[in-house]
Amino acid sequence: MIRPPGFRGAAFGTARNGDARVDEAARRGIARELGLTSEWAFLTQVHGTDVVEARGPGRIAEADALFTTRSGLPLAVATADCVPVVLEGPAVVAVVHAGWRGAAGGVVLETLSRLAASKLDVARAAIGPSIGPCCYEVGSDVAGRFPGFVSETRWGSPSVDIGGYLASELEAALPAGAVWRSTECTFTSDELHSYRRTRTRDRQVAVGWLPPD
Ligand SMILES: [Zn+2]
Repeated sequence: MIRPPGFRGAAFGTARNGDARVDEAARRGIARELGLTSEWAFLTQVHGTDVVEARGPGRIAEADALFTTRSGLPLAVATADCVPVVLEGPAVVAVVHAGWRGAAGGVVLETLSRLAASKLDVARAAIGPSIGPCCYEVGSDVAGRFPGFVSETRWGSPSVDIGGYLASELEAALPAGAVWRSTECTFTSDELHSYRRTRTRDRQVAVGWLPPD
């Protein structure tokens, strides 16, 4: 488990923690380690920009951003190369799943606007492990969507830095120093699932929660 420092309710699972979306034992294991219930709220992730609220556990909707104001209700998104984000504020927590489509569509900014519209302040953002610019080879169509975040893979082909793109959006919106970013690359690390590396169906989960009462 990766615990971003200074966060109250944010954790990024690794491959070793299991796929808590589908594996109840894995979910119970993570819940125990974090001192949480194993009744979580999830999304059916569709690489879109919809933001939904969870008022209880279960599969909430087809969407890629989920928030709650309920204490002790864990929220999770699952990834294996895409970028997981946890946002926390005094009265809210949100989790976001962003691949290049969601990032280009503005799913993180949509989440911030939705929370702002509900007068829910965001104090910090944690960006979990995803495929890095070292390995995320893309065509010119995708590269063209991320001006300023085009890079080069270790093998010399065009790549983009989706985590960096989201970090810059969040840094512009939040107080200085409020954004934490994992330096792990899912494609490179054997500890993390990478769809690009192994075509796996397995995912690691990112969990966000408001502390239980
Ligand atoms: Zn890499």
